Amino acid sequence: MRLLFSVLIVALTAPAVAQEVKRSIEPVAGDVYLMRNDFHNSLLVATEDGVVRVDPINAEAGEWLNANLGEIGQEKVTHLIYSHSHGDHASGGAAHPDAEVIAHEDAPETIHGVTPDTRVGDTHTLTIGGKTIELVNLGAGHDNHMLVTIVRPENVAFIVDVAAPKRLPFRDFPGADIAGWFKQLEAAQALDFEIFAPGHGAVGNKSDLDDATDYMVELQAAVLEGLEAGKSVDELKAEITLDAYKDWGQYEGWREENITGMARYLEESGQVG
Ligand SMILES: [Zn+2]
Repeated sequence: MRLLFSVLIVALTAPAVAQEVKRSIEPVAGDVYLMRNDFHNSLLVATEDGVVRVDPINAEAGEWLNANLGEIGQEKVTHLIYSHSHGDHASGGAAHPDAEVIAHEDAPETIHGVTPDTRVGDTHTLTIGGKTIELVNLGAGHDNHMLVTIVRPENVAFIVDVAAPKRLPFRDFPGADIAGWFKQLEAAQALDFEIFAPGHGAVGNKSDLDDATDYMVELQAAVLEGLEAGKSVDELKAEITLDAYKDWGQYEGWREENITGMARYLEESGQVG
């Protein structure tokens, strides 16, 4: 007699649970806060007239914020500013239907379904509920424009994607004009501010912007030297370890992709023969 052992494989996996998004409001300085939505940040400025928000992120983030504005003694978002128009920062603006929407003149006509009420040029100053809010365009590079928001008197600058304190830039610079990106960094360094509030990661100081610029300069120099010596991108990924930045966010995840993107830029722009 043969015994047949039938093995029942029971799927013991738990029912699919949507990963919970971590959201919070974190003080930056004075009346300035960051809303965190997992890995994306919005800037919040609490004024006497309501909240000025930069970057809606997505609809759920906006709904959460509307329900939690009491944490900073506020009731509504009165102004919504777009730093740029990439979907991961600029979706869901409709969560604030009564807000005045402000974007740079080079932003698309509608930004993920929202039509701006006000378009600003390369420098623009708003005075809202006792706060001074300066908007400065860094020009094309990461996107075709990039509005930095500087809040006075706190001297906080909200700079998105072009740099972040102690954090590598995103992957292989998808869709970016890297020559323009260097100009954006230069333009950001020329701004007058003390505290660097980023679109991703932790708050830092202006010196973190200098460090982020140094990273890009060192990355470019190392990749250029390697390509000129006839090395392949795979060899460069193994050799260019950028040790000074080992502790930075996304060093493990994005160092190699940064090298790939920089090599592509140097080759496509004819800087390597
Ligand atoms: Zn972006």
